[in-house]
Amino acid sequence: MTTTKTADVDKTLAQVYALAAGGADIVRITCNDVGAAEGLAEIVPRSPVPIIADIHYQYRLALAALEAGVEGLRLNPGNIRKPHQIRAVAREAKDRGIPIRVGVNAGSLDRDLMARFGSATPEALVASAQKEIGYLAEEDFEDIKISVKHSHVPSMVDSYRLLADTLDYPLHLGVTEAGPPPGGLIKSVAGIATLLLEGIGDTIRFSLTADPVEEAKAGRQLLEYLDLRERTGLDLIACPSCGRAEVDVLAVAQEAQVKLEEADLPIQVAVMGCVVNGPGEAREADIGIAAGRGRGHLFIKGKVVRVVPEAEMVDALLDEARLLVEEGADARVAAADRGAAGLASRDRRRLLQIQGDANQAAARRAAVVKVASRDR
Ligand code: SF4
Repeated sequence: MTTTKTADVDKTLAQVYALAAGGADIVRITCNDVGAAEGLAEIVPRSPVPIIADIHYQYRLALAALEAGVEGLRLNPGNIRKPHQIRAVAREAKDRGIPIRVGVNAGSLDRDLMARFGSATPEALVASAQKEIGYLAEEDFEDIKISVKHSHVPSMVDSYRLLADTLDYPLHLGVTEAGPPPGGLIKSVAGIATLLLEGIGDTIRFSLTADPVEEAKAGRQLLEYLDLRERTGLDLIACPSCGRAEVDVLAVAQEAQVKLEEADLPIQVAVMGCVVNGPGEAREADIGIAAGRGRGHLFIKGKVVRVVPEAEMVDALLDEARLLVEEGADARVAAADRGAAGLASRDRRRLLQIQGDANQAAARRAAVVKVASRDR
């Protein structure tokens, strides 16, 4: 959702473009006064993605937004309550073939329902959606999606589960007023991912107190990590580092992230702190780098293809990542430097000799045998 004044067409459009570049497939814009509705009339035809008008309190602004050409409306049933007004919007939206999201929010629940249920319970949120759908149905309006957002994650999850059991409409998921990152991100992921993994939800929004582009990026990344959307950007994985690390993993990962994001490569890249466990643990990554003693081992699908000086390892990773995207993994493994695998294996053995076997497998086995054979 944009945060600019909608009447400021250029600023709002710039944000819409930034959101689309960040991964948003659809953008919501507030339509809170006549100036905003006028702005929408200019924004909608120039937008790269569908625009949804966010409507509170004033049903006439919903009608104005429809006139401006928006591709969808979000109505808040908690503050547009007069049935004849809701029906007027439904008639107009139906004539234009425009969908309506019934956007229930725990923080602005219909006061009658608050009185009936005592608080914003899942039952109250679902009852609010049902009530609104009843008004829309009086106009034979069926092009509906629903959200029942709550800022309390367990209540949000329960509300959507109840909604999915009760009604058969597309659902838009979100934890409302989640707050700034990292807490807002964690709340949003906890609620949205839980539901998506249960097969509940059709669209999502992260409501963060942050640059809205961060919302778009987080939403896109979540969908990519859940395999619900094809990867369009970088997926950088990195080991958490430990006493075996041969480099500052955090610094190398940050440098790699900046350079790889600039290159805009849609691949999974691993940055691992040591060659002892790195290539094996990250063998599922498209490409990765692991640190040896003063050297970096570059690997593709777990196979070492180059060994480079440590100072050059991020640049070598970037070069190889570009070639990987152009030529594919098989071609790049076939083009591996001669001797790279042997050199890597020697580095690994040497490091094991210096650092020892952290798991101490042999000693543990001997201890287990000793205990098991003890004569009591
Ligand atoms: S890859 Fe190496 S440095 Fe990183 S966590 Fe694993 S053992 Fe530790």
